[in-house]
Amino acid sequence: MLTHTKYQAAFKNAIFQICGSREPPLACLADIGERAAKIAQRSKPWGARTLYVCLHLERYQKHNDKGAVKYGIGQELYNAVMHLAHPNSDALRGKRAVKVYARGVREGAVVLGHSRKCDWRKCRVHFVGNSGRRYCSDECSRLAHADQRKCTTRIRSRIARTARRRSEKRRTR
Ligand SMILES: [Zn+2]
Repeated sequence: MLTHTKYQAAFKNAIFQICGSREPPLACLADIGERAAKIAQRSKPWGARTLYVCLHLERYQKHNDKGAVKYGIGQELYNAVMHLAHPNSDALRGKRAVKVYARGVREGAVVLGHSRKCDWRKCRVHFVGNSGRRYCSDECSRLAHADQRKCTTRIRSRIARTARRRSEKRRTR
């Protein structure tokens, strides 16, 4: 029986990761109970209520001064849930945990992508995006294009100036 709160914290995180929410619905807990039982080769699944109690041990009993509770999480259930939460520890090898602010990416997802610098020369933002994306934001894209236009105008007027000078020289000859 794992009674220390550090196990409870790891267990919580694993469940939150699997359900993709910090408020896992009972249906997700029931699903975890079933899948965990298969991993543990247990004939009877763990019920959603059991998992719920394991998530909130502190609501049912007091910690002692060693940060432990009297009734904890069964080792079998704990191991099975850990396995469910980290099935692809291979996928995580050699990778670093980074914070991702994203839309349309599930919590706990492994993001496999290279980050690159925004193409707007004055921007220092590095981002991960589709291969076609060049700028970190619409604003940078706008600024870069404005800059490009300015550059081409400058080059065009420089070319026009040299051409004018040349033709003036020709005339004076
Ligand atoms: Zn940028």
